[in-house]
Amino acid sequence: KIPEVNGDFYGLGKTLSAEDREIQLKVRAFMEEEIRPIANDYWNRAEFPMHIIPKMAELNIGGLIYKGYGCPGKSALLEGFIAMEMARVDTSISTFFGVQSGLAMGSIYLCGSEEQKQEFLPPMQRLEKIGAFGLTEPEVGSAVAGGLTTTCKREGDEWILNGQKKWIGNATFSDITIIWARDLDSQQVKGFIVPKDTPGFQAEKMENKMALRTVQNALITLKDCRVPESLRLQKAESFKDTAAVLRMTRAGVAWQAVGCARGAYEAALAYTNKRAQFGKPIASYQLVQDLLVTMLGDLTAMQTMVHRLSVMQDEEALLDEHASLAKVFCTLRMRSIVDHARELFGGNGILLEHDIARFVADAEAIYSYEGTKEINSLIVGRAITGHSAFV
Ligand code: FAD
Repeated sequence: KIPEVNGDFYGLGKTLSAEDREIQLKVRAFMEEEIRPIANDYWNRAEFPMHIIPKMAELNIGGLIYKGYGCPGKSALLEGFIAMEMARVDTSISTFFGVQSGLAMGSIYLCGSEEQKQEFLPPMQRLEKIGAFGLTEPEVGSAVAGGLTTTCKREGDEWILNGQKKWIGNATFSDITIIWARDLDSQQVKGFIVPKDTPGFQAEKMENKMALRTVQNALITLKDCRVPESLRLQKAESFKDTAAVLRMTRAGVAWQAVGCARGAYEAALAYTNKRAQFGKPIASYQLVQDLLVTMLGDLTAMQTMVHRLSVMQDEEALLDEHASLAKVFCTLRMRSIVDHARELFGGNGILLEHDIARFVADAEAIYSYEGTKEINSLIVGRAITGHSAFV
């Protein structure tokens, strides 16, 4: 008898309360029933399945950890499990959701005024309003902290935005985009909620990506784009506030890496039991088992790490370096796991229909976004040595 495929070898899912576990399993069912059958097709066509948004809204997981404004006020631990469940089937869908619920809603939740929160968070929680987060620029990626070139200038009750943003997920169809820009007067970074129909705001779809093809990334151009003071994030005073949003979401990216790796491991384990060569399932060969066990060891280490990370977040003990270490470690191990999985599929590993090719490609995007391996390593390096290698 072939044992059941289960990438949660140490049973970490069982540490959730019965109510939270039910939510986790509801998300799993949604991903298996609604997303898995269409994931490769949408990825191949580089289109986003807009029709799934109302069904996803029924899960009531938008803004999961926020308190008030119609948000469920759940733990960061459950939020991590949900990111993993989504990425386990389709990393593009977990990215769409991470941008909406983490980066866009998180910016408003942490940096918005009471009125802004009341206006934007409830419809975003219900996924009726979609958000995007515009920080990276064509010429400024890792160095955003001191190097933003997009500018804002106050003129009476309005701000004028000029510049470009690159890679902005969801922004081709989002109702609002959070734009981070440098104030020409104070030189500090400020944040703005920019509605899509604002004159001077233009979002153009980025084509020809070889990873996360389902996610719609945009190149945004802001040309004398006028935004009222009422849409400036009232509590965003400097880049420190932008960084607080990223601190909150980076842990989620580590969980996404776990999900991508888990999806690949589970697919490989099932496949090696089904695929026979030399008259026996390939899972019965020692070299194949060694590879599977190496993958499982890495996967289990990743899961226990992010589990502890989220508990620390719930205890309000999470520091930048904690999240950065998990992002570095988990994305590195994810890359290795998807690579081994692809190997175990032989030629089928490069065919989209077996899912693995998609996992291998998508891993490359998670590896780079929300801070590359080098940048997150330098954040940890600074914390443990006391020396900043950035300057
Ligand atoms: P660069 O900064 O140009 O780095 C290139 C290389 O140089 C990297 O290996 C980097 O580690 C290395 N490097 C740079 N500085 C140093 C240093 N001091 N020491 C050592 N090595 C260094 N951004 C958003 O604002 N919103 C989004 O929604 C969004 N979504 C994204 C989705 C995808 C699929 C991708 C790929 C990116 C997305 N991004 C988004 C941008 C993402 O956060 C950046 O790609 C990332 O921060 C890295 O910046 P970069 O690509 O410009 O690389």
